[in-house]
Amino acid sequence: MFESLSDRLSGIFDKLTRRGALSEADVSEAMREVRRALLEADVALDVVKSFTDKVRTRAVGQEVVKSITPGQMVVKIVHDTLVETLGSDARPIDLVAPAPVPILMVGLQGSGKTTTTAKIARRLKERERKRVLMASLDTRRPAAMEQLKVLGEQNDVDTLPIVAGQSAVEIAKRALTAARLGGYDVVILDTAGRVTVDEGLMDEAAEVKRVTDPHEVLLVADALTGQDAVNTARAFDGRIGITGIVLTRVDGDGRGGAALSMRAVTGKPIKLMGVGEKADALEDFHPSRVADRILGMGDIVALVEKAAENFDAERAAKMAAKMGKGEFDLDDLAEQLKQMQKLGGMGGIMSLMPGMGKMKNQIAAAGLDDRFVKRQIAIISSMTKKERAKPAVIDAKRRKRIAAGSGTDVADVNKVLKTHRQMADMMKAMGKQKGGLMGALGGM
Ligand code: GDP
Repeated sequence: MFESLSDRLSGIFDKLTRRGALSEADVSEAMREVRRALLEADVALDVVKSFTDKVRTRAVGQEVVKSITPGQMVVKIVHDTLVETLGSDARPIDLVAPAPVPILMVGLQGSGKTTTTAKIARRLKERERKRVLMASLDTRRPAAMEQLKVLGEQNDVDTLPIVAGQSAVEIAKRALTAARLGGYDVVILDTAGRVTVDEGLMDEAAEVKRVTDPHEVLLVADALTGQDAVNTARAFDGRIGITGIVLTRVDGDGRGGAALSMRAVTGKPIKLMGVGEKADALEDFHPSRVADRILGMGDIVALVEKAAENFDAERAAKMAAKMGKGEFDLDDLAEQLKQMQKLGGMGGIMSLMPGMGKMKNQIAAAGLDDRFVKRQIAIISSMTKKERAKPAVIDAKRRKRIAAGSGTDVADVNKVLKTHRQMADMMKAMGKQKGGLMGALGGM
């Protein structure tokens, strides 16, 4: 998740690390790029502006300690500002109130509200040993009530028996009474959702809130909807008043824009994030960890897995293990070249690796341009199995043969071998480092 933002940011800081001092012009230029990266990640405009202003103020005039580079300094400031924008500390669901503690779930239809209700119930039951009762207030969609009931059965959490014909407020009252009489610790009320924010929806949710006086009002919002999610949050907070946000589908969120904007726009903490369809795919929202991810500090396995969207899992795992051990032969290079073609060129694979901006130039300089990719694959296919596995055996005579076999010349063969050597070295270095952007910067 959050890959594209991390790609963009790592490239920007890569440029900065090559500068001698941290001048106002440097910072301004970097901030222009950061601004563009954030906007492309669908972060709200006013959030982008205040973010870059904050970083600029902190960075310019900042004394750069001898042992670190200007780039590292800015990365640190950006990281700290990201953490701050995301809300600094993790804020779990607050259950400090007389039992049964009412929690109201609000949000648009399809945001993952019902799934999240069950996920939270399951988590409170398993981690905090709470007795939880769930109730669906969606009177217009019997299927939604049935869905919650099924989720309750699957996760061994009680649901309020369905009584046809009751209004949302009546069901809410009945749920509170049942929770009190039944000795439950927590009662989670899943309100009805609509496809878009509408007055009827807001009125009903507001009325349920007034009647039940919930300790938490959690807005469930779909991270994939980016700015729309932010607008939804603003609307719900303005009309009903929320205490926190659960961001869903973070597992599919390649941009991270919603996560960054939500807290800044509403001032309300993101408490949890949904990272999959399964009942246990719910994680605490830790601002510092999310900031780390946005800055691209992923490990090698994670990156290879990402690049592997187009290849099968087994091959990806093998490649990851090899890279980790620093083994990388010509077959692997051919494999990478083919993947590159599939992923839309050189940018594809390299851009998945945090802090790889420098490597990109190196590889371009080595002639690993897309135009040459095909020819290089042809050259590798003209080698014997042994040559591919052990490039060291390829002497002058063999080079001539390979060149003739692939319809190229010896200089081209040499280029392939050089590229392989460089990539093998790089893989080895990355295998040792595993530090992503920070690791790469540390080595400069
Ligand atoms: P509701 O209409 O808001 O109650 O939405 P549902 O709870 O019915 O969820 C709609 C769909 O989103 C379902 O297929 C869920 O499995 C799926 N979903 C919910 N949360 C997540 C999540 O965090 N990640 C992914 N990938 N899918 C989710």
